[in-house]
Amino acid sequence: MSLDGSSKSMASADMDAIRAKYEAERLKRLRPAGTDQYTFAEGKFARFADDPYSPEAPDRAPISAEIDVLVIGAGIGGIQLGATLRQNGIDDFIMVDVAGDFGGTWYWNRYPGIRCDVESYIYLPFLEETGYVPTERYTRGSEILAYCQQLGRHFGLYERALFQTKIAGIHWDEVSARWVVKTNRGDLLRTRFVSTQSGIFSRPQLPGIPGIDEFEGESFHSARWNFNYTGGNSDGGLDRLGDKRVGVIGTGTTALQVVPELAAVARELTVFQRTPTAVGVRDNGPTNLSWFNSQPAGWHRARIKSFNALSNGELVDCPVDDGWARFFRKMINSVVSLAPEEITPASAEAAQERADFEYNEEVRSRVDEYVSDPRKADLLKAYYRTMCKRPGFSDHYLQAFDQDNVKLVDVSTGIERITKSGLIVDGQEYPLDCLIFSTGFELGTTWAHQAGYDVIGRDGLRLSDKWAEGLRTYHGLFSKGFPNMFFMGLTQTGITINVPHMLQEQADHISFIVRHCLDNGLTSVEATDDAEEDWQGAIDAVAEARRPFLESCTPGYYNAEGKVGDRRSAIGSGWYLPSTQFFQMWADWREKGEFEGLVLT
Ligand code: NDP
Repeated sequence: MSLDGSSKSMASADMDAIRAKYEAERLKRLRPAGTDQYTFAEGKFARFADDPYSPEAPDRAPISAEIDVLVIGAGIGGIQLGATLRQNGIDDFIMVDVAGDFGGTWYWNRYPGIRCDVESYIYLPFLEETGYVPTERYTRGSEILAYCQQLGRHFGLYERALFQTKIAGIHWDEVSARWVVKTNRGDLLRTRFVSTQSGIFSRPQLPGIPGIDEFEGESFHSARWNFNYTGGNSDGGLDRLGDKRVGVIGTGTTALQVVPELAAVARELTVFQRTPTAVGVRDNGPTNLSWFNSQPAGWHRARIKSFNALSNGELVDCPVDDGWARFFRKMINSVVSLAPEEITPASAEAAQERADFEYNEEVRSRVDEYVSDPRKADLLKAYYRTMCKRPGFSDHYLQAFDQDNVKLVDVSTGIERITKSGLIVDGQEYPLDCLIFSTGFELGTTWAHQAGYDVIGRDGLRLSDKWAEGLRTYHGLFSKGFPNMFFMGLTQTGITINVPHMLQEQADHISFIVRHCLDNGLTSVEATDDAEEDWQGAIDAVAEARRPFLESCTPGYYNAEGKVGDRRSAIGSGWYLPSTQFFQMWADWREKGEFEGLVLT
């Protein structure tokens, strides 16, 4: 069998056996509480969100300003929006972020081994504008953070940024048609427009395990790494762990990058695994400079778009050739290879299921190549459809489990409790000096909870009330009752594997609308009831169509931890048709210039 779909296909009996195995593994992990099983970094757990990277916020005088745009969030999306506003001649804006610098996800996540998990040639924005050459195909987190800072300088964003600053209140003033924004630093900003996003991979999520606050050793979340304790930095070199027993809870894509670094230095590393991640080939390496420098003008956006087309099932000539691309090609080829008269939705789904099973058989067989202990190898095999979770790729993760100092503990039915000195699983205590929570991010809660503030719109309407049961928007970006406010991020919008692509489309759309309003002296832009209603109808229809697939998946944040009807969060209430269609729809909408679905005043 090969990953390009050229194999002899799997027998029906084998497929039935795999289906049954997937279902048994799913049921083992299903928890009635769904997303509510988790604890967040607040209240007595607030320390898990403390910023270990920036010293106490320096004193500064509060700012009082009247501006055109407020950009909340200075991660990749905020940077893209700031840069795009400037490219469109919109200079009167301020950016606010609770972090101490640009970077967002890359500011907070500095764990050892961190790298981008899609090609850096499509992940990093503005490569042509800055002339920047990523050093590697999947470049290090420290390099991405430095590049975010470079973008801040390149586009003149530092002079517009208020860091270590939290939104303390935000309400719409009907009389002046301005948003009035207060911060925890005493700032008072009056702004025509606001772009906001709640961030995606920055707020730590903790497991709801009894005794979690009793552990007396060192403990922290992967997104707030304590290098004072471990030594080293995000590139590795953790030289203070040589005599330590380290435990890691969680085996998602963060753990894939962290575990090899810990395994290389810790006296003993114990990985507590509930669900394994499927680990495909990464094949990282240094950038080929002659290839990079020979790219024609426009190559960057073209590469980004073609990867997105491929990942949305289009048979395009995509230059990206990695684990992601090979998986998507295999899925597409499975349908394309059917006789045209045989292609129906059901036959296409059956062909894709078969191709997915074959792909996963191959990924599972990689485990046996690298892990000699059959018990460990069995545990490391993932039994669920590829897109039930973010697929993983690594050249080092599986190999780490072949080391004598690395233990793998199966916690598929749960960790009993955390004690002051370790973890108890099935009655056995695992003593630890250091416990690392690689347990993901707050993604299943409401938008307002994730943002950490509420928004008071027209006539006192609270966003937390309007969105209590899930987002309600027009195209993800606009929500009635909240004029002149744009919701960036994983809203009800076109979603991409390569997240900055989606954010750039949003930045382009917002800049277009703001430019139009400023040029034409318009004071407010707001979604109509009908537009919002229609969009919700489209979302509900897609949600119903996706339901059987999500219900067959092992629990994770893609399927509300197994509670598929739970649509409170942005991810749970999203629009899930191909983002290629969505971006084309937006391009046509702009081209038409009628601002359909919006009321412009
Ligand atoms: P995930 O949410 O993917 O993984 C969390 C892990 O914690 C899972 O293995 C989960 O198990 C486990 N877990 C949670 N609660 C418990 C518990 N009570 N007992 C045992 N295990 C538990 O978080 P990650 O930080 O790994 O990744 C989050 C996202 O960040 C990824 O999906 C990816 O999109 C992004 N990412 C991107 C990277 C990049 O380079 N661009 C790199 C790393 C991450 P279970 O699966 O059973 O729920």
